[in-house]
Amino acid sequence: MSGLLTFLLFAGLFYVMMRFGCGAHMTHGHGDKTDHKDPVCGMQVDPQQGYGKVFQGRLYRFCSKDCLEKFDQDPEQYLKKGGDES
Ligand SMILES: [Zn+2]
Repeated sequence: MSGLLTFLLFAGLFYVMMRFGCGAHMTHGHGDKTDHKDPVCGMQVDPQQGYGKVFQGRLYRFCSKDCLEKFDQDPEQYLKKGGDES
């Protein structure tokens, strides 16, 4: 009985994480993570301003169309430079 309860608890937790975790704040942007950094020039971009582009499931923001076009030409170069994920 207690095994089933634990399983349900984990299933519920997993559901909540899927629902309100990464996927949710990627689109809404609660400001708890600096996701609004322009990967081209490194500037912080206001969620209300600039340009947005979804690349490999992540939303990136750009201060100007110029930066967006630069990113479009060679996305991986800019992601490698600014990204701290290995
Ligand atoms: Zn920029």
